[in-house]
Amino acid sequence: MSDARQRKILLDESEMPTRWYNILADLPTPPAPYLHPATGEPVTPDDLTGLFPMALIEQELSPERFIDIPEEVLDVYRMWRPSPLYRAFRLEERLGTPARIYYKYEGVSPAGSHKPNSAVPQAFYNKQAGIRKLTTETGAGQWGTSLAFACAQFDMECEIWQVKGSYEGKPYRRMMIETLGGTIHPSPSDLTESGRKILAEHPDSTGSLGIAIAEAVEEAMAHDDVHYALGSVLNHVLLHQTIIGEETILQLAKAGESADIVIGCTGGGSNFGGMAFPFLRERLAGKEGPVLRAAEPASCPSLTQGTFAYDFGDVAGFTPMMKMHTLGHDFMPDPIHAGGLRYHGMSPLISHVYHEGLIEAVAKTQQECFAAGVEFARAEGIVPAPESTHAIAEALAEAARCAESGEEKVIVIALSGHGHLDLPAYQAYLEGQLTDHTWDDEELRESVSESLAKLPQAAQQA
Ligand SMILES: *Cc1c(COP(=O)(O)O)cnc(C)c1O
Repeated sequence: MSDARQRKILLDESEMPTRWYNILADLPTPPAPYLHPATGEPVTPDDLTGLFPMALIEQELSPERFIDIPEEVLDVYRMWRPSPLYRAFRLEERLGTPARIYYKYEGVSPAGSHKPNSAVPQAFYNKQAGIRKLTTETGAGQWGTSLAFACAQFDMECEIWQVKGSYEGKPYRRMMIETLGGTIHPSPSDLTESGRKILAEHPDSTGSLGIAIAEAVEEAMAHDDVHYALGSVLNHVLLHQTIIGEETILQLAKAGESADIVIGCTGGGSNFGGMAFPFLRERLAGKEGPVLRAAEPASCPSLTQGTFAYDFGDVAGFTPMMKMHTLGHDFMPDPIHAGGLRYHGMSPLISHVYHEGLIEAVAKTQQECFAAGVEFARAEGIVPAPESTHAIAEALAEAARCAESGEEKVIVIALSGHGHLDLPAYQAYLEGQLTDHTWDDEELRESVSESLAKLPQAAQQA
């Protein structure tokens, strides 16, 4: 098929999928239930109504295989969707690999990443439920930008706590959030009980996603017309992201290809789940399916080194306990540049399918990731988000294995976003200033084992 060298595999707006795929309907064994943080009993829909609208709570627990995307959401999606699938001819040539490499590019969205795919329906369902304001946390700023954009589409307020390290190091995201109408604070802040508690113990804390979540949840719980929105981890977020994989399957079919391996980066697991689950559906239905491989940071290796156990989603212990691969809810990841991957846990759904052996995982160092990002940018002209470079690094490793073995694998990369607002990280890499923290470092292993010792013990018997 390759004599035409078709680089972009596009779908018309009319070909855009109109349903999300819910993997809960097809899993051979059900994932463990969420447990109430205080009682340890399985969470009921009522327990979640202070934070989320009923439509999202229903999606969180739904047994339906496909869920229709509301027309109002499709209308916003069409601002940038369907997103392009590219054949990376120039990268292949540069690498001298017989592999055929494709990448699904989510950087075309208003926020420059996949995150609006869930921010938009979350804002929509909350607006429908009469909610005035959404609160949230943001690490690198991608999710905050996405939610601020989504709230602006539905005429809602948006208040954001951003991990302080990123707030200070990445001012452009903050400016973008404010431009889109959001309000933003560095976390830990003195606006919440949780923030003040951390500041009292660690005045110099650079923050973490776990702390920022606690602050945003606290504000939402304090008001009836304020809800909280989470950018990853939860079932409904991964559900919304399946638009990525659904489009990719249609695009590969258009190109006359079938994937041998699909690779995505994992922070909380939403872009990877969104890409991988529609492919997994085919495998669970007994058909041939590609290898699905998650790439995570070596400094925050929840899948490859974490424990599969009940843990809180946040450092204060407000959120339900979820059974997931975790490094412990008060693990403080090293301030790597891929801020979106600095989360102590992993989506319960991703954790479950990993535990069941349905997906694979690898951990990547910062230096390998930025080297891959630079290689990719020079070949393909897109500077990838630091998070996305984890997927690219693994794809390059796979392409190199193909070069050795002569295998012509079809490699599909989930390119979750661009790195235009992360250029200082590239500069640090180019100037040789990046350090690597891996599982070989005793310090990292010790800090993980300390935080794992604080897992909620009673929940483990549930
Ligand atoms: C937030 C983010 C991630 C990590 O989040 P997931 O939920 O694991 O997808 C990855 N890539 C980009 C560009 C991000 O903004």
